[in-house]
Amino acid sequence: MGKIKKIGVLTSGGDAPGMNAAIRAVTRTAIYNGLEVVGIRHGYQGMINANFKPLYAHSVSDTIQRGGTILKTARCEAFRTPQGRKIAYDNLRAAGIDGVVVIGGDGSFKGASLFNEEHNIPFVGVPGTIDNDIYGTDYTIGYDTALNTVVEAVDKIRDTASALNRMFFVEVMGAEAGHIALFSGIASGAEAIIMPEIKGEARDISKMIETGNKRKKSSNIIIVAEGDEEGGAIALAERLKPQLKGYEVRVAILGHLQRGGSPSALDRVNASRLGNAAVEALLDGQQSVMVGLQNNEIVLVPFKKAVKQHKGLNQHLVDIIDILNV
Ligand code: ATP
Repeated sequence: MGKIKKIGVLTSGGDAPGMNAAIRAVTRTAIYNGLEVVGIRHGYQGMINANFKPLYAHSVSDTIQRGGTILKTARCEAFRTPQGRKIAYDNLRAAGIDGVVVIGGDGSFKGASLFNEEHNIPFVGVPGTIDNDIYGTDYTIGYDTALNTVVEAVDKIRDTASALNRMFFVEVMGAEAGHIALFSGIASGAEAIIMPEIKGEARDISKMIETGNKRKKSSNIIIVAEGDEEGGAIALAERLKPQLKGYEVRVAILGHLQRGGSPSALDRVNASRLGNAAVEALLDGQQSVMVGLQNNEIVLVPFKKAVKQHKGLNQHLVDIIDILNV
C-alpha cells in the first residue's frame, strides 16, 4: 500500500456530543501531516451517494463546543450488502480517498470491518456513542456529556420528588447496556438502578422502600435503562404500583435530550486525543482497528474484537448500589 495522501472522515450511527471535536482533531491532524481531508456526509450513505466535501483547517473552526455532528449521520441499509460496499469503494477511489476514519458505534465498526475484508482502503474507527458499550475502550465519545445531562435532570426531579413525597421512575437511554443507568444512578444517589445486564433486580424494590420508609425518606428515585427486561419505566411503575403504598408514583422519560448539548470538557479532550490517534494510526499503516482509551492510554483494538465481545458493567459500582442506600 502506498503512502496515504487523502483521508475521508464520517460520523455514523447515533449522534453523540463530542463528535465534532473528533472531526476537528482528525481534520487538523491530517492537515498538520500534509494530507488532504474529505468530509463524508450522512454516514455510510454519503459514501454510497458520493456526498463528499473538502475539509480545511477553518472548516472545523468554532465546532469543538457544538453538539450533534457537522457531517450529519445516518443509518444505511445498503452498506450492509457487499454490493453497497463495492459502490462505496468505487466512490472513495474515484475521489482519491486512500484512508477513512469512522466515528461511530459497534454497528459502524461491523460495517468497517467487512469493508476492510473486501477492499484495500484502510478504515480506522473512533468510538462515538453515548452508551459507552464498546468493548476494548473504557470510554466512548458522548458518554460523559450524556451522563452529566442525566444527573442534572435527576437532581431537578429529586427536588420536586422530595417536596411532594413522590417516587419517580426515571428512564434513561441504554437499549442493551446499563452503563448510563449505573453511572448516573450512582452519581445522583438513586435508590435503585434497573439495568439490562442484571436480571430480576426489580424484585428488591419494595424491600428497599420499606428500609427507606423506616428512616423517613422523603423521595425515591429509581433509574431504569430503557432496554431492561421489565420493558422500561412506564411498564415497571405500573407493575410495582400496588406494592408502593404511601407514595405517589411518577414516571419521567428523559429521551433524546440525553443525546444533545454542548460536549463536556472530558468529551472534548478525549475526542481530540482519539481523533488525533486515528490519523496517526492510518499513517502508521494500521487498518481495521479502533483507537480506544484504556487506563487513560491510547490503545488499538481490532474491529473484530471490539464488535464481538460484550463490555461488562463496572462490578464495583454494581456492588455498592445497595451499600450506599443502607
Ligand atoms: P450507536 O451505537 O450509536 O447506535 P452504531 O454505529 O452501532 O451507533 P448502527 O445503526 O448499528 O449504529 O450502525 C450504523 C451503520 O453501520 C448502519 O446503518 C449500517 O450502515 C452499518 N452497519 C451496521 N451493522 C452492520 C453490519 N452488520 N454489516 C455492515 N454494515 C453494518
